[in-house]
Amino acid sequence: MQVKTILNRIQRHQSFVYGPARLIQHQGLALEVKVRPRANARAKCSGCGSVAPGYDTLPARRFEFVPLWGIPVFLLYAMRRMSCPNCGVRVEAVPWSSGKHQLTDTYAWYLARWARRLSAVAVGR
Ligand SMILES: [Zn+2]
Repeated sequence: MQVKTILNRIQRHQSFVYGPARLIQHQGLALEVKVRPRANARAKCSGCGSVAPGYDTLPARRFEFVPLWGIPVFLLYAMRRMSCPNCGVRVEAVPWSSGKHQLTDTYAWYLARWARRLSAVAVGR
C-alpha cells in the first residue's frame, strides 16, 4: 500500500492531490509527500477566499504532518500566488494549514490533544 492511499483515506482534499511518498534525510529519516493542485482547480485567495487568476508559484515548502511509525512526515507543496481583485497579489489558501504555519492543522490538533492528555496524567499522579 502506498502512503498516499492512507492520506487519501484520512485527509482527502477536493482541489489537491497527493503524489508518491519518498524517504529523505531531514534531521534523520523523514517521509516527504508531494502535493499538487488538481488539474484545472483554481487557487483561492487566503485573504478573502475568492477565486482569482494565477500570478506565480513560490518555491516548494514543507508542512509537517502527523508522524508515521515515529518517522516525521512532510507535505511538500509549492504555493501559488494570485492577483486577487480584492486583496492584490496574495498567496493561495490551502486546506491543510492556516496562516504561515509550518505545521499542518491536523498535526497541530494532534499535538494539542496529546498535551491535554499528558497534563491530565500529571494531575492524576
Ligand atoms: Zn482576496
